[in-house]
Amino acid sequence: MEKQGGHVMVLTYPAQGHINPLLQFSKRLASKGLKATLATTHYTVNFIQSDAVGVEAISDGFDEGGFKQAPSLEAYLESFQAVGSRTLGELILKFNESASPVDCLVYDSIFPWGLSVARQFGIYGAAFWTTSASVCSMYWQLRQGLLSLPVKQETVPVSMPGLPPLRLSDLPDFLAQPGHLSAYMSAVMEQISSLEQNDWVFMNSFDALESELVKAMSGLWSVAMIGPMVPSAYLDQQIEGDTVYGASLWKPTNDECLGWLETKPPKSVVYISFGSMAEIPVKQVEEIAWGLKESDYHFIWVVKESESGKLPINFLKSMNETGLVVTWCNQLEVLAHKAVGCFVTHCGWNSILEGLSLGVPMVGMPQRVDQPTNAKFVEDVWRAGVRAQKDEEGIVTRKELEKCIKEIMVGERSEEIKRNACMWRESAKSAVSKGGSSDKNTDEFVGVLLKRGK
Ligand code: UDP
Repeated sequence: MEKQGGHVMVLTYPAQGHINPLLQFSKRLASKGLKATLATTHYTVNFIQSDAVGVEAISDGFDEGGFKQAPSLEAYLESFQAVGSRTLGELILKFNESASPVDCLVYDSIFPWGLSVARQFGIYGAAFWTTSASVCSMYWQLRQGLLSLPVKQETVPVSMPGLPPLRLSDLPDFLAQPGHLSAYMSAVMEQISSLEQNDWVFMNSFDALESELVKAMSGLWSVAMIGPMVPSAYLDQQIEGDTVYGASLWKPTNDECLGWLETKPPKSVVYISFGSMAEIPVKQVEEIAWGLKESDYHFIWVVKESESGKLPINFLKSMNETGLVVTWCNQLEVLAHKAVGCFVTHCGWNSILEGLSLGVPMVGMPQRVDQPTNAKFVEDVWRAGVRAQKDEEGIVTRKELEKCIKEIMVGERSEEIKRNACMWRESAKSAVSKGGSSDKNTDEFVGVLLKRGK
């Protein structure tokens, strides 16, 4: 049997914020001549469509309902390791008996055991990190004992190489409360502990965005910044027809959103979304609702079906034509629309990269994990937005939200922030365009695999 070019198996965690960048990476690799296969769970496989990439199901041990069926995150990750590593191995074996044996496993770094699977088959192993490089480096420094836990008010601001001084509210929430999210904490520590053994560590980021970190990390691991993983159409058409991620775990209402946006003047609409996983306290939902109303701008607000019961009674009736509340949309299409002038975001890493890549100024309303650090960077390092401050109860009040939206739309710093957002859009495009920093890093990887595939 004649062997075809290099074949990369890409393993993703089955959540929207992980599938999007890993599927996008698979598409980029396929566009450069590799065969790419995305491995995901039985529960998510039917939500993914891609002509360029093969999509295969493996088992996480919860084939009917996925992680919602698991009693805890810890139990889910344990089950995925036990069942997922076995079924992933079976999938690799199936390909190894065909004309397209697998040459490399790129695994979502949340599954550090991916490296042992790669080694078991004698193939390259590469971790794919779905947070910022800055957050990854912070976790590494934590692992080295450079930061003692729990971080307390007296020990801040924290100074770490390559990072700006960080206050308590800028750090991932679980560092201040190690009891809380302990499964998350131990998963993160495990991810960090084996990074140096990988053949590559991919970061969904680009050199210009985190230049200090690139220097600090390049001595540690075989790190390659290959982002932003946003479909090429939004970065000036690098890959023909690459206009969507190709995965949506919920049904988008885009016809409605785009039709509505068409009727609005340029840069007049606030888009607000908290990503796929956030559960927002009722009091906070109420403050957002009245803050949006009082700010008096048009808005599109994504309120997931599971959260819709938290909307204040009367709010939907009272907003008339001012706003549109939807349960899910194709966020990229909305952000890219000329009518959108401000993105109120929970600061999930994909949302941040999308806001920067499309040049939309942001209001950060971080909720948990790495989001506070991302918000800090948006405001103080990339200067492409502002961060809403919480009150003593941990709530962003309607007044604060209104103030932040106005700051972006018409405030004193508005012009500077808009200019910076546009500058980052150009910088993101040049990183992934031919010969750009991320494109070169991707080409180097592809070159090694194409050679191995021959
Ligand atoms: N997203 C979307 N429609 C929505 C809300 C979010 O397509 O209505 C996408 C968004 O474009 C991003 C992903 O879902 O790619 C969310 O990832 P992120 O890292 O921002 O947040 P997470 O969901 O992981 O908290």
